[in-house]
Amino acid sequence: MPEEPVFAVMYDFDKTLSPKDMQEYAFIPAIGMTPEEFWAECDRMMRAYDMDQILAYMYVMTNKARGTFLFTRETLRALGKAVELFEGVPGWFRRINAYAGKLGMKAEHYIISSGLKEIIAGTKIAGSFERIYAADYCYDERGVPFWPSMAVNFTSKTQFLFRINKGVLNVTDNDPLNEFMPEDRRRVPFRNMIYIGDGLTDVPCMKLVRSNGGHAIAVYQDSREMVNALLLQGRVDYVLKADYSKGGALEKTVFAVMDQAAAMNRTIGLHVGSVETARAQLEARKKQAWARAAGENGEMTEGSGPDEGNGPCGI
Ligand SMILES: [Mg+2]
Repeated sequence: MPEEPVFAVMYDFDKTLSPKDMQEYAFIPAIGMTPEEFWAECDRMMRAYDMDQILAYMYVMTNKARGTFLFTRETLRALGKAVELFEGVPGWFRRINAYAGKLGMKAEHYIISSGLKEIIAGTKIAGSFERIYAADYCYDERGVPFWPSMAVNFTSKTQFLFRINKGVLNVTDNDPLNEFMPEDRRRVPFRNMIYIGDGLTDVPCMKLVRSNGGHAIAVYQDSREMVNALLLQGRVDYVLKADYSKGGALEKTVFAVMDQAAAMNRTIGLHVGSVETARAQLEARKKQAWARAAGENGEMTEGSGPDEGNGPCGI
């Protein structure tokens, strides 16, 4: 367990930290398609073969790249350089970390995205994240993809919340993830979590975090109409413009949630302390009762006291 409580901020990527889908910045122009054509082709593949939506776009990317774009881990990572970020994003993580430090917590940032891991890994903020959970390929020794290794769709996104919650961060560690773990032994309790996303694909994560005592924020660019519905349907706690600037409404809201989490951590700590004192007193009383009973029955031995159900009356 970490020394200080961990406060985890989890982000969707496309339209949450960046204004467009990541493929639209450099990849789609490179293969000579428009975004509309590209996404229509992904949709067609998905319907034609009853494919998972993420596997469909991953296939279309490799297929359409043939003869137009050298498709390797390296070139995908290079695409990340063209990805634009919302106002204030580059300095955001440092500000959140500093505020958590003031509250006696450690902030950790995680990406949970249906986009491509290697493109996100190529952005200038990649180093700010504890983990980037996103779609990815298996690459051969030349860095050429030969099979999908991970497809993260809207419901599979939720497994990563449990990974963060239990501290089982490696995607191949499945048994420890599914083993029972009491709430008080989990590395990041849900109350110390905030999920930031922009749309319907984030709803399962938002709901899961909220229903376990954490918070969810829906961000928007121009119109808040769609995300208003998420708020009014009880799927998120706050609707805010995707502006991560210093002193902005989003920062103030996240700071307020962190204040609440820090206060909760303190009150829960006091409660646990109180329970431990009560248990210690109860234990001391049991020992006294056992000592008294032992005095009355010289033959008694440790472990056979009255509270173990094997006392003088049980003999
Ligand atoms: Mg999104």
